[in-house]
Amino acid sequence: MSEKKTEKVIIIGSGPAAHTAAIYAARAELEPLLFEGFMAGGVAAGGQLTTTTEVENYPGFPDGIDGPTLMDQMRAQSVKHGTRIKTETVSKIDLSCRPFAVTADSGEYVAQTVIVATGATAKKLEFPGVEEYWQKGISACAVCDGALPIFRNKPLVVIGGGDSACEESTYLAKFATTVHLLHRRDELRASKAMQKRVFDNEKVKVHWDTVAVEVLGEKTVTGVKIKNLKTGEQSLIEAGGLFFAIGHVPNTAFLDGQLETDETGYVITKPDSTVTNVPGVFACGDVKDHVYRQAVTAAGSGCMAALEAERFLADGE
Ligand code: FAD
Ligand code: NDP
Repeated sequence: MSEKKTEKVIIIGSGPAAHTAAIYAARAELEPLLFEGFMAGGVAAGGQLTTTTEVENYPGFPDGIDGPTLMDQMRAQSVKHGTRIKTETVSKIDLSCRPFAVTADSGEYVAQTVIVATGATAKKLEFPGVEEYWQKGISACAVCDGALPIFRNKPLVVIGGGDSACEESTYLAKFATTVHLLHRRDELRASKAMQKRVFDNEKVKVHWDTVAVEVLGEKTVTGVKIKNLKTGEQSLIEAGGLFFAIGHVPNTAFLDGQLETDETGYVITKPDSTVTNVPGVFACGDVKDHVYRQAVTAAGSGCMAALEAERFLADGE
């Protein structure tokens, strides 16, 4: 039986982090093999930007660019420089010794270094109207979508009670007439500093013990029906948009605890690097970043991961 080829680098993921890592690794002649996933974490190959329309804040596109088109372009650039791509989800990985073993649908692969760029999936809620108006006034990323014309000068609704919900509410208050922050409990989970920003902002109104039960709309969202959990009373908020800020799930289940993560599952890397606790394994993008969560920051850390993998191999480690 022939020996398995040992890859110099295997990249797992398909968002801006994975493709930037692939472009750098391919140009450095590391001949990367990239597993882009097949509906991994419920998201198509190409990652979170395949679930959105206009991306207005990725540099180089003054007129904005459609999310799926941007990801097609990144993929094409990876391929152009020699990246081999498999449309398979990595189900298992063995980091106990080098070379590392990576298992996908078509079998087991081995590699000297692994770059984990599997991203995170924004949590959504399911109630009547969400499916119908998703991306037609409903979003899971206020920083990404909040400045779009459909949300301007209208009342908006945000759901959540953590730092994201507070940050997004105060961000949206710049464009909205009023921001209604719905929280299911009677105290916020957010840090005191973030809470203060919300309470100090006259445009943000907090609805305690409140959940959304239905989204109403015509072509886009026109209102959100809410329910007070203590009284059972239902009412309608007229609103031009609804934002979920109820957290993300990092796509790290396949690691089976072999990389150090924080309590919510995000991979921990050394400060200012993509180096994980396992030498030869690097993590980049949203899978290790619960703060910035932007395409451009994911791409930046993808570049770092490839450069660090290249250095690791050059040092003969
Ligand atoms: P992701 O984009 O999360 O992609 C990782 C992908 O890897 C997964 O989706 C999956 O396809 C694949 N994968 C996962 N697990 C496996 C596995 N086991 N094996 C193989 N493949 C796997 N940012 C901006 O800068 N501007 C915007 O306008 C913007 N709009 C957004 C709109 C929405 C609705 C959302 C949800 C996010 C938006 N973002 C935006 C945030 C941006 O999409 C993310 O920060 C960025 O995509 C993160 O990139 P990433 O490479 O870390 O991973
Ligand atoms: P969190 O998990 O901290 O908060 C999620 C919020 O959503 C909670 O208030 C939770 O309610 C609520 N929620 C969850 N599920 C539901 C549901 N099904 N229905 C209604 N509400 C729900 O997520 P964040 O994204 O806010 O923060 C993640 C991490 O990122 C944290 O560590 C945070 O500190 C950090 N972060 C830091 C920022 C900063 O410092 N600038 C900015 C953004 C994030 P409940 O409280 O009842 O559980």
